[in-house]
Amino acid sequence: MRALTWHGKHDIRVEDVPRPEIVNPNDAIIEVTATAICGSDLHLYHGRVPSMREGDVLGHEPMGEVVEVGSGVETLDVGDRVVVPFTISCGSCWFCQNDLYSLCDNSNPNAELAREVMGHSPAGLYGYSHMMGGYAGGQAEYLRVPYADVGPVKIESDLSDEQVLFLSDIFPTGHMAAENADIDEHDTVAVWGCGPVGQFAVQSADMLGADRVVAIDRVPERLAMARDHGGAETINYEEEDVYDRLMELTGDRGPDSCIDAVGTDAHGTGVVATSDRVKQRLNLEDDRPTVLREAIRCCRKGGTLSVPGVYVGRADNFPMGPLMNKGITVKTGQTHVQRYLGPLLDQIESGNIDPSFVVTHDAPLEDGPELYETFNDKEDDCIKVVLRP
Ligand code: NAD
Ligand code: ZN
Repeated sequence: MRALTWHGKHDIRVEDVPRPEIVNPNDAIIEVTATAICGSDLHLYHGRVPSMREGDVLGHEPMGEVVEVGSGVETLDVGDRVVVPFTISCGSCWFCQNDLYSLCDNSNPNAELAREVMGHSPAGLYGYSHMMGGYAGGQAEYLRVPYADVGPVKIESDLSDEQVLFLSDIFPTGHMAAENADIDEHDTVAVWGCGPVGQFAVQSADMLGADRVVAIDRVPERLAMARDHGGAETINYEEEDVYDRLMELTGDRGPDSCIDAVGTDAHGTGVVATSDRVKQRLNLEDDRPTVLREAIRCCRKGGTLSVPGVYVGRADNFPMGPLMNKGITVKTGQTHVQRYLGPLLDQIESGNIDPSFVVTHDAPLEDGPELYETFNDKEDDCIKVVLRP
């Protein structure tokens, strides 16, 4: 079958690889009809994530049709149309039972490797390094889905692939980011990053009743999308000082909640076009992470910082002093996707939101390598890429 494979920094290929087979009785195989490229894939593209191997199949935002089920699968049948969450979860361990699906204790076969680095092992993820289980990803014609009764959500209405595909990751991710931001009706919420995750954080902050949402980025099309689709006020950090502007907007108090939907900066500089004054103030000579520091600096005393952005490895020079003295609460984590599938599918089906607004590129899988580059460089007004195997 055809699949997108990883071969090192900036080297994504489309290749023939063996078609996956049922390994365990609770596996299903799906034929992928649509699969997206995520900002998280860019960390792999930049060679930042350890324990990737040449030839690893990429992708963790897939949907498709069930073509085979193992003898132990009870809820899926051949022919079902499903969206597959990027988090692989057993459904029965202490963490899954407590709705903490991305922290599943059983789904990472390389738990020892993760344990060495992190102390404990998070859940397995598709297409995301051997530390996260080494599972082949869904930017491919077929995907093996372990614990098939726990993850995939059946789509029984006639919604299009683009309308439901983002249940696999970025819609729940934006939503959990907003939930983690502890929003109430008088709150101002600032969202750093207007990529796909930021867009859904903006939407969800609004859905959860924020009084005001301010979105920050440097890419004009992304800012425009946050304004037009999410009703956000926007700050272009190349043109304005983010701290000064946020203080102006909040009567000097700072946003009640800050969401970092950027993470390890895809461009690796951490200081892209931030003004000299801001560099000086944040002591950026000390290196990353810029957005975290800026968000902690801007957040109101006693406010909340929600971090859906992915950080790889250590983020030293973390301003623990200001965080502690300002009494800021920090919440973060890989998304517990399974927790949100039902409620967010209801939102889509009832017409409250149509997630397809983020799609700017829809192309055959064969165009994948080129579109990784386009998405990374934010060229061609690219915000979200959907690939069709
Ligand atoms: P993306 O790369 O498309 O978007 C990131 C955006 O941040 C870009 O628009 C970029 O211009 C902007 N940005 C860069 N530096 C900035 C700065 N200093 N201030 C403001 N904006 C800045 O990626 P995405 O798909 O939207 O994903 C965003 C983050 O969320 C990534 O780190 C990704 O790995 C992470 N993510 C986390 C989860 C999770 O489970 N927690 C799931 C999916 C994605
Ligand atoms: Zn993703």
